Amino acid sequence: MRKIIVAIDGYSSCGKSTVAKQLAQYAGYTYVDTGAMYRAVALAVNRAGVAGQKEQIIALLPKLSITFTQSAGGQHVCLNGEDVEPFIRTLEVGNLASQVAAIGEVRHFLVQQQQELGQAKGIVMDGRDIGTVVFPEAELKLFLTARPEVRAERRLKELQEKGEQPVYEEVLRDVNDRDYRDTHRAESPLRQAQDAIVVDNSDMTKDEQLSYIQHLFDDCINR
Ligand code: C5P
Repeated sequence: MRKIIVAIDGYSSCGKSTVAKQLAQYAGYTYVDTGAMYRAVALAVNRAGVAGQKEQIIALLPKLSITFTQSAGGQHVCLNGEDVEPFIRTLEVGNLASQVAAIGEVRHFLVQQQQELGQAKGIVMDGRDIGTVVFPEAELKLFLTARPEVRAERRLKELQEKGEQPVYEEVLRDVNDRDYRDTHRAESPLRQAQDAIVVDNSDMTKDEQLSYIQHLFDDCINR
């Protein structure tokens, strides 16, 4: 059976990674979470104390190795060999990730690695620019969205489950700020590819969404 590239883009906290992982498992494909790569760079920037300093951030890039490892809990991102998954899912790192993601050199550094990961196809990759920049030739492109209030509620729950005590208004502001930065940056802003299928999951259950996306995938590989 032919192998394809599935590109999943969309706003923050709209469930891209959950459905991307499920689809990868269904298809027997590799899943790549590109947001985790930007988050790992943000963590490195934070640790080096160079947040907000573009030239220093660019100088740091050649010293960074970003890889993935499979563990019992799923796929983890590693920074210079260290599993940094426990440190990258905070609001602070997410916020810094969307700032470093606006730097062209950072994007170039990561996009190249993402393209290498997809060379053999059989991949489900999620992010903000997968269908537009990383794999404009992807056979199946999905653009996920949900109302900001719904996304803030989901993010709030996720953070609470991790033991954080977030305030709803702050989480909603963060969702809106990130949307704004992601859609307004000069370098590869988040936008829907012309040939992407839009999935608004505000009023869908996870199961409904998964079965809809599985159908789209099946249609695509049998075409
Ligand atoms: O998807 P996630 O929330 O983990 O991504 C963190 C940030 O990384 C996003 O807000 C976005 O600014 C950036 N990002 C990006 N391009 C991607 C993936 C993530 O700019 N392909």
